[in-house]
Amino acid sequence: MGTNRRSFIRNTTIFTLGGMVLPQISKSNMKRGSLPKQGLKLSFEPYSLQLKHVFTLATSSRSTTPVMLVKIEYDGFTGYGEASMPPYLGESHKTATKFLSNLDLSQFTDPFRMDEILGYVDSTAPKNAAAKASIDIALHDLTGKIMNQPWHKIWGYSAEETPNTSFTIGIAQKKEVIEKVKEAAGFKILKVKLGRDNDKEMIETIRSVTDVPLCVDINQGWKDKKQALDMVFWLKDKGVVFVEQPMPKTMIDETAWLTQNAPLPIIADEALQRLTDVQSTVGVYSGINVKLMKCTGLREAHKMINLAHANNMKVMIGCMTETSCAVSAAAQLSPKTDWADLDGNLLISNDPYTGMKVIDGKITLNNLPGIGIKKI
Ligand code: MG
Repeated sequence: MGTNRRSFIRNTTIFTLGGMVLPQISKSNMKRGSLPKQGLKLSFEPYSLQLKHVFTLATSSRSTTPVMLVKIEYDGFTGYGEASMPPYLGESHKTATKFLSNLDLSQFTDPFRMDEILGYVDSTAPKNAAAKASIDIALHDLTGKIMNQPWHKIWGYSAEETPNTSFTIGIAQKKEVIEKVKEAAGFKILKVKLGRDNDKEMIETIRSVTDVPLCVDINQGWKDKKQALDMVFWLKDKGVVFVEQPMPKTMIDETAWLTQNAPLPIIADEALQRLTDVQSTVGVYSGINVKLMKCTGLREAHKMINLAHANNMKVMIGCMTETSCAVSAAAQLSPKTDWADLDGNLLISNDPYTGMKVIDGKITLNNLPGIGIKKI
């Protein structure tokens, strides 16, 4: 029995009517025929992830990532969520604090009305996708815990169908690249960040120490479609299995041409964020990279995966640098994806949670209810 219910009974005047003992209840509760329930209680705390290595993309470098750790409490249960906010996406501790402070979740007394609750959250302000995702993840964790089942089971997915996850090798000097590749021993696929003038050198360096399959993320770094196509053929010979966001998202015709002629799948990342963007990638890319922090969480990510599959597209599930909280949430969907890039928690040194594990390169889900995490 939850605390609310206990205190309700303790504080209720008992009187008798014709020998029956009845609790005195207010008219509004009598009408609903239920005990009064308190609404959802939201709390949040800014946190800074320490990266094990300086992380270099085609456009920036950094050694920390701001995140917001979120809790939703209800009837003695606690759901955990997270917003990860790498600076290039435009959110910060400040914007997330503003967004989350404006929410009134106490008006919702049934956490299972997720569509209604998350619809409200989405409607309060535009953008703020990561802050919205933090609520979505916490609500999934909460409801999963109340049902006492992990979400991959609630959705009907088989835990053994999870893909291998890639481990990301950022742009770095030769010596550091070799170190990172050695650190990634055990992973069955490596993701290599390209899009600078030393792309071939990066791949040759990695190939000097390992022959595991690779995928590459160009982060919009290539500007010429013919050079891009030559590179894709070259990469295929080097054991690369797909190419993520080769050209700027605005180069739609060029990308469609590349996808048509390329010997490898071309995956959209920067070119889309939310469910409404999926349609514009059909016929332009071979697949999409779904990330909870861009699409406002599991509810919408799930719909994006289904829509992509309905259009015969490949799906990859990715992440930002995140704690085990958001990564384990994404992992619940991974049995329905072709590839996963869920290594965000492995790139940080101060993870406050444990959850999904990578065992022998494969995403390994546990049986914990909700999103499958525990606070350390
Ligand atoms: Mg990417």
